[in-house]
Amino acid sequence: MNKEILSRRWCDFQDSLAHMLGINIAVIGPGGKLIALYNGLPFHYDYYHSPELTGLIEGYLIKLTRFSNRRGESKVVEDPLGILAVPVPLEGGLFLVLSGGLNKEKKLCRQFFLERLKEYGLPKAKEISARIRTISPAELQKKAGSVGTIYRLLNHALSKTKKLEEKTTLLAVIDEINKLTATLFGPRFFDLNRFLGFVVSSLIILCDADGGFAFCLSDTGGATVYRGTDKEGFLKGLENKWLTAVEQGKNPIKAIKQHISSGAKKGLGDFAIEKFCVKIKDFLICLGVVCSRSRYVKTVLSSFAQQSLIALEVFSLYALLRQQLGIILNSVRHGIIVINNRGNIMLVNRAVADILAGYGIALLPGKPLDGLGMCQAIKMAIHNAITAGEYTLQKKSVLGEGKNLRYISWDVTPLMRSDKIIGAILVIEDITESESLHTLKEDWERLTTASEVAAGIAHEIRNPLSTAGAAIQLLEKVSEAGRRKELLGKISTELKRMNNILTDFLNLSKPKSNLVLEQVDLLELIEEMEYLFQSEAYLHNVELIIKRPQSFPPVIGEIIGLKQVFLNIEKNAIEALMSKSVSEGRRLVISFDFDDNNACVSFEDNGPGISPEHLRIIQRPFFTTKKSGTGLGLSISASIIKRMGGELCFESYSGRGTKVSVLLPLGAKNDKK
Ligand code: ADP
Ligand code: MG
Repeated sequence: MNKEILSRRWCDFQDSLAHMLGINIAVIGPGGKLIALYNGLPFHYDYYHSPELTGLIEGYLIKLTRFSNRRGESKVVEDPLGILAVPVPLEGGLFLVLSGGLNKEKKLCRQFFLERLKEYGLPKAKEISARIRTISPAELQKKAGSVGTIYRLLNHALSKTKKLEEKTTLLAVIDEINKLTATLFGPRFFDLNRFLGFVVSSLIILCDADGGFAFCLSDTGGATVYRGTDKEGFLKGLENKWLTAVEQGKNPIKAIKQHISSGAKKGLGDFAIEKFCVKIKDFLICLGVVCSRSRYVKTVLSSFAQQSLIALEVFSLYALLRQQLGIILNSVRHGIIVINNRGNIMLVNRAVADILAGYGIALLPGKPLDGLGMCQAIKMAIHNAITAGEYTLQKKSVLGEGKNLRYISWDVTPLMRSDKIIGAILVIEDITESESLHTLKEDWERLTTASEVAAGIAHEIRNPLSTAGAAIQLLEKVSEAGRRKELLGKISTELKRMNNILTDFLNLSKPKSNLVLEQVDLLELIEEMEYLFQSEAYLHNVELIIKRPQSFPPVIGEIIGLKQVFLNIEKNAIEALMSKSVSEGRRLVISFDFDDNNACVSFEDNGPGISPEHLRIIQRPFFTTKKSGTGLGLSISASIIKRMGGELCFESYSGRGTKVSVLLPLGAKNDKK
């Protein structure tokens, strides 16, 4: 075994095995001496850059081989760099040490690894660390089990003079190799070239051949591999023939058949080609060996060809599934972003790009979501999902501003495997349209409010109208210039007043355009609206008191929006007061207040008040206690005030009345609009 294991064929075989499994295989001689090392890990595992590390590793290998016992299960341990390794005892005092990657189950494994690399002065530490994979001890143990069995079976067969001529042993090895290749089909990547490389080097050993090849063609791609001694470039030529035929859309099997027979004609007759081609569905696979000395070549080839086909089929199904998944994900309206537990984006569907287009938020797989302009609340929710498994559902956020403004609704769900958090899923939905519908509803509500106040307005308009009418009648009779001027002045004032009332009425029913914030003098605004309040109050026998301060600072707001909010609040107060009899006294007090940052206008009624249970939900859309109420007034008012950067506050005690305050941010000092 000792000699055989260092032969060219075995080197090829072990190298392919290491690459296919993505592990390192170290062959250790008696006394812990490293005989050969095959690099299958995705970085150059060069321990010998640091003499200090070399000594450490050698000591470690001796210890490791002593540590494992011959019969029992080998234990998975960590090497001095923190990489998982498992010793596999062979016959003749030989050992294999398989190392597979960083311990998947250890939290700080990568950090530890990086520190060790730096400590031992290995160059390109960061690069190496980024490339190395993680593996669970159980996974490595499983791979080690298969590798150990293959080596033992091969050794057993080779130790006999007949060399692998025993069919049962041969089949046992093939079986074991098949099992090993089957372990590859997890959700991991599948590399056709590596797989075929392993198949060919196994074939060479099992058929006791000088060389071999595996050419494959499928709708998901193709590959060609040849290994072993290539006498007079025969295998290279074979590969060229295959590739040219594929390129030209010709039958590649026919092409290589010609090459084989022409080789024989050229006197290369001792090639003893045994080939095996199979075509199932979309797969065409052609395996062959050159100069085989085994009687069982056909058995081995057909068995490997079948196995390769199964592997390819699984691979293509898997590829198809991934592709379908992509199609499904891309066809949904919702944006879906999958983030791993390190906060890096793993998957982004097309809808995400549509939703985020134009916001300079580029979400690319592999990049961290952090720092990409995503709003803080989303980042926080993802952090909470990854670290604590928290769900954040049905949240709303705003992206951009002005015409570019979009409303999104989003959910963050932790992504679990078994009971481990492996990442998070962010689902976003563009709700700008439905939010626009909400705005429409606001307009509709404005109209109902308007129609209701129209009665009050009609009443209000009648007064100036009759005053003006009387003045006009008088004007016809009066001839004195001074008196006429006075009457004309009166008519003009009354007409102005009517104009104001109508303007307000029109303002109220006009659909709301985009909110324009400006400095607003609340005192002035309330004064302008006084006649509206008064007319409502008058109609309902409510005593209206406005407590005006001497001066009041300007606030930031929007006049039309504020008017709607004030009317809504007043209307609610009056409606509440209707439950009281006139004799009990219906009162509504409007007062003003401010501090360093905010100013507020309060509407306080002495109505029935709001119960604590209701107080919590009155701002919800459609919550109403009235027969013909819409339940939209307060929710709309609250959203209008919120957009101005303010807040609606309620204080209420059952039976004693309600105080609704409209809190608004203060405007710039000494800067009236
Ligand atoms: P609506 O007036 O159509 O019912 P709102 O959103 O304006 O809808 O008000 C929601 C609810 O809040 C009302 O139905 C009422 O129960 C309560 N509410 C609002 N203001 C007052 C108030 N000043 N006094 C008592 N209850 C009130
Ligand atoms: Mg209302």
